[in-house]
Amino acid sequence: AAKAAGPQSLRRYDRELHAAVVEHAQLDQALREALNQRQFELHYQPQCDVNGTWVGAEALVRWRHPQRGWVSPGTFIPACEESGLILRLGLQVLEMACARLAQWQAMPHLAGLMLSVNVSARQFRQPEFVRQVAQALAASGAPARKLKLELTESVMVDDVEQVTGKMKALRELGVSFSLDDFGTGYSSLSQLQRLPLDQIKIDQSFVRDLLTSPNDASIARTVIALGQSLGLDVVAEGVETAAQRDFLHQHGCRTFQGYFFSRPLPQAQFEEGVPALADPPRALQRLS
Ligand code: C2E
Ligand code: MG
Ligand code: MG
Ligand code: MG
Repeated sequence: AAKAAGPQSLRRYDRELHAAVVEHAQLDQALREALNQRQFELHYQPQCDVNGTWVGAEALVRWRHPQRGWVSPGTFIPACEESGLILRLGLQVLEMACARLAQWQAMPHLAGLMLSVNVSARQFRQPEFVRQVAQALAASGAPARKLKLELTESVMVDDVEQVTGKMKALRELGVSFSLDDFGTGYSSLSQLQRLPLDQIKIDQSFVRDLLTSPNDASIARTVIALGQSLGLDVVAEGVETAAQRDFLHQHGCRTFQGYFFSRPLPQAQFEEGVPALADPPRALQRLS
């Protein structure tokens, strides 16, 4: 049973709530400034075949905070989603990724790589999204065939006809699609089967305990089999050990992403082509 809240605790609650609201507003303001001042950068995590040969990369946004150093997206993406700033951030990410992809075409060791870019459901939902992608490609000169967009199952709360219509328009440009964090959302198999996808990514939550959790192991095997039967590539995320890679490979997974192969790398380091297996040079931090 709750104790009657005296004036003391009420004041305390008010103070905490007030502090939270102020903090929220401050983060929002800081994010607006960060967008205006172009403080966001992309890091790149290699995607590898079983031998560790790079076949692609995922662009992962980081905030280079003037005082705090690198800030990880787990801290600011949810705030951006809530405020709508994700639309501006998503466009900056898309433009940066296409510019990079265009430059890689002149670098023989990177010219063959696909580049995957995360797209939030809210960003994808915009009527002008197809035009934005087309413009980012045209302005940069990046080859559409090398650009892959990662969607999550949250796009499927929308009308499937509309979602597939947009995907088809983008596919006509040459762009391909991956379904990120697969297995964590609510999409049904019939929806999955109707989306014009090229790839699904097994969420890292199923990879983490693969060798000790029979449930996670059977989910991972099922996702691989599902991908195979739908003719989709399957990428495993969060692969941290050789044993996880071997299990996934034995069950038919052909592409891997995770700290076992490399951490996400700042652009210059990624372009050197050397994976970072040890601790990152500058640890990402959470704001709170
Ligand atoms: P995600 O798209 O599922 O990206 C994979 C996340 O797993 C990344 O976290 C990556 O650093 C992390 N990761 C990679 N390998 C391992 C591993 O072996 N073990 C573990 N424990 N983690 C690993 P990150 O960079 O912090 O990004 C988190 C999420 O933020 C992303 O999850 C994605 O949902 C979102 N995000 C990142 N960049 C963007 C972006 O440009 N736009 C949007 N809309 N979302 C983004
Ligand atoms: Mg992703
Ligand atoms: Mg993921
Ligand atoms: Mg994730």
